[in-house]
Amino acid sequence: MLDSFFGKGRVQTDRSRAVFVLIALAGVLPSALVLWFASLAIRNEQLATAQIAEEAHQVLLNQIKSDLVQRWNSLLEETDQRIASLSPEAAFYETVTGGGADGLIVLTAGDTHRVAYPGLPRRADETNSPPADNKGKDSNTQLASQLAVLTAAIQRNDGDGVGHAAQTILDNPTFELCVDRNGRHALSSIELLILENRDVVPDAIHASAFSRLTKRLNNYRFDLIPASQRRFLMSRISALSSQPSSPAPLFPTMFAENLSAQFMETNQELNAGPYLSRSTIEGVWQQRLPSGHGIALFTEHRLRKRYADWVADMDNPLATRVRVEVASDNSTHHSADTEMVLGNAFPGWRLRIVGADADTRSASLKGIYVALSVATVGLILLILLAMASMTLRRLALAKQKNTMVATVSHELKTPVSSIKLLVDTLLQDPALRPDRVREYLILIARENSRLSQLVENVLSFSRIERTKFRIEKQPLDIVGLIREAVATFTQQAEISDRELTVEIAPDIPPYRGDAWALNRVLLNLLDNACKFSDPPRKIRVSAQVDKQGLVISVSDQGIGIREADFGKIFDQFYQADQKLSRSNEGCGLGLGIVKHIVNLHEGTIEVNSELGVGSTFTVHLPLGQQ
Ligand code: ADP
Repeated sequence: MLDSFFGKGRVQTDRSRAVFVLIALAGVLPSALVLWFASLAIRNEQLATAQIAEEAHQVLLNQIKSDLVQRWNSLLEETDQRIASLSPEAAFYETVTGGGADGLIVLTAGDTHRVAYPGLPRRADETNSPPADNKGKDSNTQLASQLAVLTAAIQRNDGDGVGHAAQTILDNPTFELCVDRNGRHALSSIELLILENRDVVPDAIHASAFSRLTKRLNNYRFDLIPASQRRFLMSRISALSSQPSSPAPLFPTMFAENLSAQFMETNQELNAGPYLSRSTIEGVWQQRLPSGHGIALFTEHRLRKRYADWVADMDNPLATRVRVEVASDNSTHHSADTEMVLGNAFPGWRLRIVGADADTRSASLKGIYVALSVATVGLILLILLAMASMTLRRLALAKQKNTMVATVSHELKTPVSSIKLLVDTLLQDPALRPDRVREYLILIARENSRLSQLVENVLSFSRIERTKFRIEKQPLDIVGLIREAVATFTQQAEISDRELTVEIAPDIPPYRGDAWALNRVLLNLLDNACKFSDPPRKIRVSAQVDKQGLVISVSDQGIGIREADFGKIFDQFYQADQKLSRSNEGCGLGLGIVKHIVNLHEGTIEVNSELGVGSTFTVHLPLGQQ
């Protein structure tokens, strides 16, 4: 029977393992599915967010683009208006100093293939000044002779002569209008001569010549200086000037003059389309004005700055992150950036958003998805754990039932067979001698009490298992209860009064408890003390009161219990040493029931034991709130 019980135990263990494997498998699949769905959802959400951001960016970029185009068109229109309302020189001056362009070719109103400014030097006969009257011719002649005097004095290194001749020239206002044979403004050339001969020229004369010449060169309403002469003079004076790094440039238009001249030299056909395009000069962009009366030139770096300033000035959430770039700028290009080409208005230019979005929405959604999937997987695992523990509990219960049936059957067999044998023997005795009958009846009564003790334990166990075990507390004479239990036990068991001593302190107060249940406690403890000791036994029952309450102990000098088993012996069906225990009857239910009853009385039970020396079971029952 026991073998078959242990065999069943192995089957149960295998089954529990199989249950665990099945449950684990059942958990893995849904968990994997949940995680897969979550990752899919996160990816889709990120894509959707990116798309929304992309669309929003496109809208904002479009706003920036149209704003840029608008500002650009009005810039060009302003230049057109200047050309229409001012002289070519003045229009040039106003445009380049006012930031309208970095260079400008003003075309002749009636003939857009001819340059009005900055053109080639005009010949003397092309100019409208000075008037070709006698007075003008006289001035030219006079100036020529004064120039000869000045040149001679310079050659002689005659400071006084130079001072005198220069002063005479500078003091004569009529010379202001003289133009030489090549169309150049004569006085400006003489003033340069004075500046170039700084060593022989008196300081006052030099300063006066410098101030008059620079002022005239910056005066674009004075139209007797052709552009080529102006450029030449500007560069010469700049070279001579001792203050090249002055914060205010001597000639604010010099760069534009040079740029425009270089453009005309390299693009004699004056080809320029109606949209911004690269010019013949490296790093310079060109665009024909809407009226067609001019070509504006822009250096690339100033163009970038202009666009950047415009964008920064815009009331647009993306303004700080947008760069306006030439499309070939690949150095800082990231594939994730959002871009927009500027199209017709600025072919070859594009807008680009730099820096990543701080995508908090997507991040928080991702967090929610992750939390949800972790929670779901956690829930699945919890449910599986609960299922596993339920299944295991059922398996354990089934195992317990099997164990009980096996053990109880085994334990029942012995007294039932003994009783049968005794009764049969008696019946076969025809004489039925009274002394023999009495002896047999005593034996039958002992077996019968063992049987009923066993049945009581089985029934108690069954009630505990079904949580039907209840106690009814009432005032008890605990001393009487102990003595009664001892008397019952000595009567049932094969032990003499000498083997069992009872020591009860005199001051034991009445105790509230369940008489029947406490009787079972004592009978079970006494039964064990008897079962696990060899005759002649030394069993001692004691009762006393300490600070905690009532203390009842049952001790023996029997086989003892290993310390490792102290905690386990109170478990149902646990039998400490199979070899030792099996020689004694029992099915491992007694101490479990004892502990349960003590617990119901809010008490505790402890064991002290040593192998081969003996055991003491001590029950503490609280006396408070009795
Ligand atoms: P049973 O006595 O029916 O086997 P119990 O639950 O009463 O079951 O006891 C469990 C086990 O504890 C016993 O099998 C035995 O190994 C051990 N035990 C209990 N009481 C004693 C004792 N007085 N001396 C030695 N071992 C004991």
